[in-house]
Amino acid sequence: RKLGVALVGLGGYSTGQLGPALRLTSHCQLTGVVTGSVEKGKKWAADYGFPETSIYDYSTMARLADNPAIDIVYVVTPNGLHAEHAIAAAQAGKHVICEKPMANTVADCDAIIAACQKAGVRLGIGYRLHYDPTHAELRRLARTQEFGPFLKMDGGFGFTMGRSQWRAQKKLAGGGPLMDLGVYVLQEALMASGEVPPVALTARELPKLRPEFFVDVEETIEWTLEFANGARATGWTSYNANRNDFRAEAKDGWYEISSAYGYKGQKAVTSRGPVTVTPPASQQALQMDAFARDVLDGTPSLVPGEMGRRDMVMVEAIYASAAAGGKRVELKF
Ligand code: NAD
Repeated sequence: RKLGVALVGLGGYSTGQLGPALRLTSHCQLTGVVTGSVEKGKKWAADYGFPETSIYDYSTMARLADNPAIDIVYVVTPNGLHAEHAIAAAQAGKHVICEKPMANTVADCDAIIAACQKAGVRLGIGYRLHYDPTHAELRRLARTQEFGPFLKMDGGFGFTMGRSQWRAQKKLAGGGPLMDLGVYVLQEALMASGEVPPVALTARELPKLRPEFFVDVEETIEWTLEFANGARATGWTSYNANRNDFRAEAKDGWYEISSAYGYKGQKAVTSRGPVTVTPPASQQALQMDAFARDVLDGTPSLVPGEMGRRDMVMVEAIYASAAAGGKRVELKF
């Protein structure tokens, strides 16, 4: 059976990636939308072949409860609205996929997890890279420890931010590039650690080149994660320069990936040679199909809500350390 998915927020990511990816899925189909624009909703209904009665706005999400054609609600609004929309979806009895970063704060992540538990629905995060085979190879190496444990990791993700309606506004974005891009670098370090979380971290914000644009959010920030086994993972993220890579070193080998965090075009190589894998037609299609299969089969998710919360614990600690001039912060998850 295919599960019906409703996208909440029909912006760039829904339009450019998730909608098209839903056409490629085996276990999902787009059966509704939540949008602030009736016109946009009608266009989506015509394009994707669902009835106009399955168009909702943000204030009528409770009515989703009456629509049996919608099983999963996928929250794709600005970060600061994820909690409100994910909780509304759970209260309507729908399984929830929430885009990254999960929410603006750990407290909001807790509220989403509690709402999903109370409603008895599944919760997953839009961490599409877990379904990319080049990243799966990193996770495999971390699990098998063929090279030994990865002890030295380093990665960065940044680009020059042009205009965005909300990405430089703290209220809607929760922060700057750390929330948007740095989360990928944290995810990668945790893939390399075998999903073992760090015990402490330090962080430093770098001076702003465009302070008038990044008024209440960081423009560039870097951090070091410390793991109990002595491993260290440095990370960097910025809205003023390009970087898109990750490297993990172990005693007997290394893994390196460039174009690491994009929708496609990953180039991974290990100390043994290039990682040769067939690129998927769509990371997002694989991610949504996996979520649907987990719902249907009752299997655990690779990217559960608890993982989104874990990453927000690190994000909050990075901001706290940077605000305290680089003070070492011990982590409690
Ligand atoms: P966007 O600005 O293109 O779209 C956001 C949508 O939310 C718009 O349709 C907008 O109308 C709607 N919205 C509803 N209430 C709003 C409000 N009060 N203020 C502003 N917009 C409001 O953003 P996007 O790039 O589609 O990002 C949406 C979410 O998806 C973000 O959480 C982002 O981090 C995530 N995302 C994830 C990936 C990924 O690869 N996993 C890629 C891009 C974006």
